[in-house]
Amino acid sequence: MPSDCSIVWLQRDLRLDDQPAFAAAVARGQPVIPVFIHSGAGGNGALGSASAWWLHHSLTALGSQLENIGSRLILRSGETQTVLDQLIQETGATAVYWSRRYEPEHIVREQHLLSKLRQRGLTVARFNSSLLFEPGEVQTRTGTPYQVFTPFWKSVSPRLSAISAQPEIKALRRPATWPASESLTAWQLLPSIPWDGGFYHRWTPGEAGARQRLKQFLKNAVFQYATDRNHPAQTGTSRLSPHLHFGEISPHRIVLELHQQLGVIPDDARIFLSEIGWREFAHHILYHFPQTPQEPLRKVFQRFPWNQNQPSEWRAWTHGQTGYPIVDAGMRELWTTGWMHNRVRMIVGSFLTKDLRISWYEGARWFWDTLVDADLASNTLGWQWVGGCGADAAPYFRIFNPVSQGEKFDATGDYVRRWVPELARLSNPWIHQPWNAPDWELTQAGVRLGETYPAPIVDHAKARVAALAAFQSIKVTDSQCD
Ligand SMILES: Cc1cc2nc3c(=O)[nH]c(=O)nc-3n(C[C@H](O)[C@H](O)[C@H](O)COP(=O)(O)OP(=O)(O)OC[C@H]3O[C@@H](n4cnc5c(N)ncnc54)[C@H](O)[C@@H]3O)c2cc1C
Repeated sequence: MPSDCSIVWLQRDLRLDDQPAFAAAVARGQPVIPVFIHSGAGGNGALGSASAWWLHHSLTALGSQLENIGSRLILRSGETQTVLDQLIQETGATAVYWSRRYEPEHIVREQHLLSKLRQRGLTVARFNSSLLFEPGEVQTRTGTPYQVFTPFWKSVSPRLSAISAQPEIKALRRPATWPASESLTAWQLLPSIPWDGGFYHRWTPGEAGARQRLKQFLKNAVFQYATDRNHPAQTGTSRLSPHLHFGEISPHRIVLELHQQLGVIPDDARIFLSEIGWREFAHHILYHFPQTPQEPLRKVFQRFPWNQNQPSEWRAWTHGQTGYPIVDAGMRELWTTGWMHNRVRMIVGSFLTKDLRISWYEGARWFWDTLVDADLASNTLGWQWVGGCGADAAPYFRIFNPVSQGEKFDATGDYVRRWVPELARLSNPWIHQPWNAPDWELTQAGVRLGETYPAPIVDHAKARVAALAAFQSIKVTDSQCD
């Protein structure tokens, strides 16, 4: 006969620290059954390949953590409601706790689940453990959602000093018998063709890896963040994004550690905090404008004449073969490591949406599959930002020049040399524009354009003119944008 226990349904909160769902279950006093449900759902919820890699390793890490404190991670697959019903029946659980997700389809699913479970008399509670502020609770004085970052952040940042976090869970009461668990390997989250070799060098998924990243960042990089964060050859940013996405560390813990370790927050750290603020803003926008993963926030862009059917340009972009070294370096970093530096994300995004005039939506889909930090809110905001069609976006007419961006942010060419080794022997003046290099320079560097490295697939100056003309054609005016 099953006895009473509490189920903790884990989603994107794969940690033991600052874990309100576990804390509530512990406080209730009954045995605790941690469960992760793999839905294999389609739509926006479908995992990209790089995210699936991360999830596999993150679940492995969490499973070990739980074993170390005398518990276990139960893995089940299927439709959430069905799986939970089954588990409740098997275990006799009378309480279910979880951390909320804020993507549109999760909001609907969780609301439905909540009322069904409550109707059956279960104790149910869900918590915000992934964002500093519930997206629905932040609004302008007139009660509308913010669409510009600066006032959004100004309105919430005074509340940062009151942020708190719950202590790490050190023990969980185990049930007399454990329900069966599926095998993680059987979920086949890892690739069948091994393209993930570079991921292992770069990442340690799991809570310990997240803590280590934060510790490293707070030791050094945070003090030069304002300048170094723009230079992709340096480790000038925290690289916490996949850990944050999978909830291996909470933003609350990051804010607290920053305050506790640095005392008075220096300007560089303040800028870092505002990047965490952009993550909040992204979720705020997605919450209030749930159509944005499919549609531009600025409706006028629905009429934009994106280029369709450009398989060779698309292939060149995705494979890092455009002939523009900084773009190619970024796309190859993405493919090899599942991550790309923010500055370079903006450059490759501008190149796709402006030089090639391929829709931001296609770019977002590629990133969704290839990024280990693929996040519906941040990816949508990021792509609509570069495409000029989103909240607080860079205007479409501001077109990044891939040569001058490279020269400015990778002045020594180290980033390009790392990811585009066939150009490594070019000297600095030509590393970002090999097509302009004198013949002797190319010969000396062993570069044969069109053979060892592609000639540019578009002429940036001409592409810029064409992009501006396309932009004119939708006759964007401020009044039409809102
Ligand atoms: C086209 C495009 C697509 C993007 N797609 C994603 C995505 O799918 N997932 C994702 O997490 N970020 C995305 N970003 C935002 C940003 O590039 C990454 O968050 C950042 O590069 C992660 O590196 P980091 O952890 O070292 O960042 P840090 O500079 O150390 O920043 C700390 C944290 O703040 C958050 N953050 C920083 N910048 C942004 C931003 N512009 N928008 C939202 N959150 C931010 C991240 O959680 C990050 O881990 C995208 C940006 C662009 C331009």
